[in-house]
Amino acid sequence: HKFGGSSLANVECFERVANIIASMQSENVGIVVSAMGGMTDALLNLAILAEQDDDAFIDGLHAIGERYACTARDLIDGDTLVELLDAWGRDADDIRDVLKAIALVKSAPQRSRDVVAGYGEIWSARMLAAYLGQQSPQRGGTWVDARKVVTVHQTELGPTVLWDASQAKFDDEVPADFAGVAVITGFIATDADGLQTTLGRNGSDYSAAIFAALSKAADLSIWTDVDGVMSADPRRVPEARVIDQLTYNEAMELAYFGAKVIHPQTLGPVVENAIPVVIRNSHNPAHPGSRIETGAESIDGIKGITAIGDMALVNLEGAGMIGVPGTADRLFGALKEAGVSVTLISQASSEHSICIAVPDDLAERA
Ligand code: ADP
Ligand code: ASP
Ligand code: MG
Repeated sequence: HKFGGSSLANVECFERVANIIASMQSENVGIVVSAMGGMTDALLNLAILAEQDDDAFIDGLHAIGERYACTARDLIDGDTLVELLDAWGRDADDIRDVLKAIALVKSAPQRSRDVVAGYGEIWSARMLAAYLGQQSPQRGGTWVDARKVVTVHQTELGPTVLWDASQAKFDDEVPADFAGVAVITGFIATDADGLQTTLGRNGSDYSAAIFAALSKAADLSIWTDVDGVMSADPRRVPEARVIDQLTYNEAMELAYFGAKVIHPQTLGPVVENAIPVVIRNSHNPAHPGSRIETGAESIDGIKGITAIGDMALVNLEGAGMIGVPGTADRLFGALKEAGVSVTLISQASSEHSICIAVPDDLAERA
């Protein structure tokens, strides 16, 4: 089960999530968590502030600590609370050191940003584990640091999982006879050099699928703040409705083309292991949600519409292209050399133009 930031935004959210987990029947439950809603943005903003100014980040870090401590105090008490806040304090010292280094050189390298951004998941996992442990000492309380398990290779097109290494580490970290609830950090991972990295924005969905595959889960539930995958982005199209059933292909198509509800890479590991995925609403657990699994391709036409913003169209055209073999080969070869990933391709039948869509920020390079 994965709970996103929208399911872990405040005290009420944590209580709701704990109730959902308490109602789960299985003996072994893995809970992958995101940072509290807005936390990753707030952390990344600290790095931006540090680049601009020597100590503008101090207030920001303080505000983050206040938010965390207020939530923790309402949920947890006694020694557990003290330990949780102490751990936060130690992390804050480390973050301050990283930010000071950024402020000195006025530039935040990717590695530093990854380290700072990843704390959100560590904090929410620790807090949920502590809360569950307090609610039900025999079942909850364990948290797993995904950096000790998920090993990835970063490529231009995003991270790819090193499965053998990750499986070996998972088997070490989670004993075969484990029983109870394990709370696992989403989003963060380790790269082949042993350094901390992330799975990219919105990447906790992908973490959940990776852990589902590593643990040979019977199914994967992704709990969010809408009733399921919808026929369009509900923020733009109020009359969008929930799609009850999707094939992996349909869901993948929607995810790759902008449906924020699932991170595009999520479905890879679950398709491979034929693990069904259910997208559900933690704010409305009575709703059955959307089920994604292998099945007959849809025969009822279009299931959903998505949109990606900030794209650019690049048009290559000229009479010199007509009937000349290899033009497309040269075009895509050049784009590959430049590390530009193409989202959409169209070629006119006369062969005198090829039009491609690329992310806006790569348009100049393309
Ligand atoms: P979480 O914090 O749970 O990961 P996200 O904000 O990443 O949640 O994703 C859920 C959001 O995705 C929804 O609140 C919704 O506004 C948006 N969304 C965009 N397109 C779709 C879609 N086709 N179906 C459902 N939700 C969508
Ligand atoms: N917390 C991370 C983000 O905001 C990962 C996630 O929520 O999936 O991008
Ligand atoms: Mg998300």
